[in-house]
Amino acid sequence: MQLQENISLQPYNTFGIDVTAEYFLQLTDKNLIPGIAADNLLPEEKHIIGGGSNILLTQDVEGLTIHNCLKGIEQIKEDDAHVWLQVASGEVWHELVMYAISHNLAGIENLALIPGTVGAAPMQNIGAYGVEVKEVIDSVTAWHWNEQEYTTYNNQQCRFGYRDSIFKHELKNKVFITEVVFRLNKQPKLNTSYGAIGQELEKMGVTNPTIKNIADAVIAIRSSKLPDPKKIGNAGSFFKNPTIGKEQFEKLQKDYPELPSYPVDSNTVKVPAGWLIEQCGLKGHKAGNTGVHEKQALVIVNFGGATGEEIWELSEDVLQAVYDKFGITLEREVQVW
Ligand code: FAD
Ligand code: NAP
Repeated sequence: MQLQENISLQPYNTFGIDVTAEYFLQLTDKNLIPGIAADNLLPEEKHIIGGGSNILLTQDVEGLTIHNCLKGIEQIKEDDAHVWLQVASGEVWHELVMYAISHNLAGIENLALIPGTVGAAPMQNIGAYGVEVKEVIDSVTAWHWNEQEYTTYNNQQCRFGYRDSIFKHELKNKVFITEVVFRLNKQPKLNTSYGAIGQELEKMGVTNPTIKNIADAVIAIRSSKLPDPKKIGNAGSFFKNPTIGKEQFEKLQKDYPELPSYPVDSNTVKVPAGWLIEQCGLKGHKAGNTGVHEKQALVIVNFGGATGEEIWELSEDVLQAVYDKFGITLEREVQVW
């Protein structure tokens, strides 16, 4: 473990924003955490960075930035229906998906190709193509910087919601998630309800899909639609899809009969933020070095050299435009540092 000073975070965030971390270290050994916490010479302020695929860096980062490189996947339990995997938080999410598929373990195949680390997955209860990670999380273990101890949270205690959890609220910036235990299924319960998956499987000529077929379909759809952060800086969906009351939805539907919607419960519906942004004429909109992606209006991109402030400004403009047209306030999904 080597403590470094004044390190550029450009290689560590998928927006490719160039800000400086005051102190920086790459952590590969969990046993060093208590020592880091107790070391009075190290700054009190600590930030964890995984794959950097859900953050917007708007300024230099004071204190200590820890790049999570904790690795390890271990089977810790098994019964007739399930296998429990304990996974170190620095493992790459997509590699875990591939590991599960190669061991015939089902439940996360729809979440293939989501960038980032395992430890960040519970943060926003990652989800895609009709599946959320909360469905397979058994527990999350986190180190508390202030209390200097570990706590294990069971699934309920994580308070998972739509792209949400306790780690985005009460525990924000207070803990370092070190392990996640997943309960995966031996017998797949395939979820092909999400339209695009069915169409892609048909294109692939698959009638009786396996978990690998599902992952392949998801990978094909994602690769064709989403900008690759290695080529063009982005953090995936910049905003969450808003959930609105039925009454507001019905009023809006009168003016916009083609407004898409997905029921959440008997009183609320989810409307796609990408559609709202597109209706504001902002799909493909460019502002200096930044812009709204031409194929997916929910994604804000860095064409090169953009600052975090520029991206923030564009996101403010998008928020305002959607509010002015639809009376809906979008919420940012990315974590702003
Ligand atoms: P980071 O960006 O490094 O961190 C995000 C936040 O979590 C930060 O505040 C950080 O401090 C905190 N954090 C990270 N690790 C820890 C830890 N171990 N302990 C405590 N706090 C921690 N998301 C989806 O839900 N579904 C998608 O389909 C999806 N698709 C995407 C596609 C693209 C092209 C991109 C760029 C992003 C996409 N995302 C998606 C968003 C992103 O990939 C996920 O949110 C992912 O889980 C972030 O992981 P990360 O390791 O990169 O987190
Ligand atoms: P899409 O298929 O164009 O659909 C647009 C939106 O409609 C999605 O955001 C999705 O909500 C919703 N939707 C579509 N079909 C649905 C269904 N059958 N049931 C419920 N909701 C439905 O979306 P996309 O942009 O190509 O993304 C595909 C999937 O990948 C989505 O699940 C999306 O969340 C995920 N993704 C997430 C990120 C991120 O950074 N968070 C980035 C890229 C893709 P949901 O978003 O709630 O699923």
